Amino acid sequence: SKEQMMEIRKQNCMTMKITYYKKPVFIHQGYMQWLWDVDGKRYLDLFAGVATVSVGHCHPKVTAATQRQLKKLWHTTNIYIHPELHEYCDKLASYLPDPLKVIYLTNSGSEANELAMLMARLHTGNFDIITFRGSYHGGSQQTMGLTAKSSCKFPIATSSGCIHTMCPDVFRGPWGGSYCRDSPVQTIRECSCAQGTHTHAPLKTVVSDPPGVCIANKHYIEQLEETFATSAPSQIAAFFGEPIQGMGGAVQYPKNYLKEAYKLVRQTGGICIADEVQTGFGRTGSHFWGFQGHDVIPDMVTMAKGIGNGFPVGAVVTTPEIAVSFVKASHFNTFGGNPLACAVASSVLDTIREDSTQQNSLHVGTYLMTQMAKLRDKYEVIGDVRGKGLQIGMEMVKDKGSREPLPPEAMSEILEDVKDTGVLIGKGGVHGQTFRIQPPMCITREDVDFFLAVFNKAIS
Ligand code: PMP
Repeated sequence: SKEQMMEIRKQNCMTMKITYYKKPVFIHQGYMQWLWDVDGKRYLDLFAGVATVSVGHCHPKVTAATQRQLKKLWHTTNIYIHPELHEYCDKLASYLPDPLKVIYLTNSGSEANELAMLMARLHTGNFDIITFRGSYHGGSQQTMGLTAKSSCKFPIATSSGCIHTMCPDVFRGPWGGSYCRDSPVQTIRECSCAQGTHTHAPLKTVVSDPPGVCIANKHYIEQLEETFATSAPSQIAAFFGEPIQGMGGAVQYPKNYLKEAYKLVRQTGGICIADEVQTGFGRTGSHFWGFQGHDVIPDMVTMAKGIGNGFPVGAVVTTPEIAVSFVKASHFNTFGGNPLACAVASSVLDTIREDSTQQNSLHVGTYLMTQMAKLRDKYEVIGDVRGKGLQIGMEMVKDKGSREPLPPEAMSEILEDVKDTGVLIGKGGVHGQTFRIQPPMCITREDVDFFLAVFNKAIS
């Protein structure tokens, strides 16, 4: 019974700091974009676990592939050569641009990022790793240190060598919220950043961009240069960035920012790492990988979540040159690349292609963004709607003028209301002020209409 489960949770399960709902949800079954609780109530799952289920809960094709492999071989380690591992690496490599072709499989995003940190340090001989404020890269000791999202930090996690630079968030960034999408032609504006009050040069608008796209200006890059200066010369091992910040609240960077940042990092001798744990596997719609939306090619890519549609898989992909450092790391894991995980991940890749999942992410995501923008214009408390494909954030504010975050109690009330009406959504952001939509990528426009009606009612 539910009472028994709650009792066991109290007695035998470690208490988690993260809580979502006042009234707990007892999930019992899932199919595609739907979940059912133990009472048979159906929920539209717009958060996919935590942005994990990519092609759909218990997707029939993935389930069938898993069942076939279950009867053949569950486990052996990567010290043996087995067809599933090699077929999968060959297939995954075909989705990545040159020279990103060398793969090591892990069981989670944290493990992948931990290994990426180690390899970057071994490859460059440097120690410092730069990442954005508000970022999330994992829950292991090193990746917790790398993570800058304050609610996920823990004082004794080692952050030695981890430097957190300003996040160039175009809505709530350090430059006075130079939000460019509202007003395509930028005027000179004041901001108060770490160095005091500045006057911005007007941001450029480029004819080929849709009106209002925020373009990285000198100011953003100077900030990064200042961050580099806090590290000893030539001490940068790597720069880590999520192409769209996930836990940070679907935070987007201005156009060309990553491109400029990658140039600078490479000048220092560091390598560029894209954390694709949330943005990979077609989630952003327009591209298979989030980094492609920034017109860059990283030196290393880490991935997890969507790669296995909920099955624990992760990966580090890098260039042949950097991959040499893996031997120096003498790294080994027991479960990474096991036959079952490879069979699941392989059928996920096939399903993304056969079901046109990425294209659906683009079409349904664009529809959702357009409709949400209408709600943003209608309600004072919706400060920003942003994202790409099916990685969307709605930043909630007290009012549009002040952009003060909507208080946690109000956020909870909305979340609870939406859940009671049958929709599960996520939450993120430095102040927990951003609702997040990252559903299984099989959702339809009808699902979006249902959600919009539910959300509209909850907000009003
Ligand atoms: N990187 C990013 C961008 C993430 O969102 C997460 C998980 N939320 C991780 C890394 C860590 O992945 P895992 O929980 O699988 O260890």
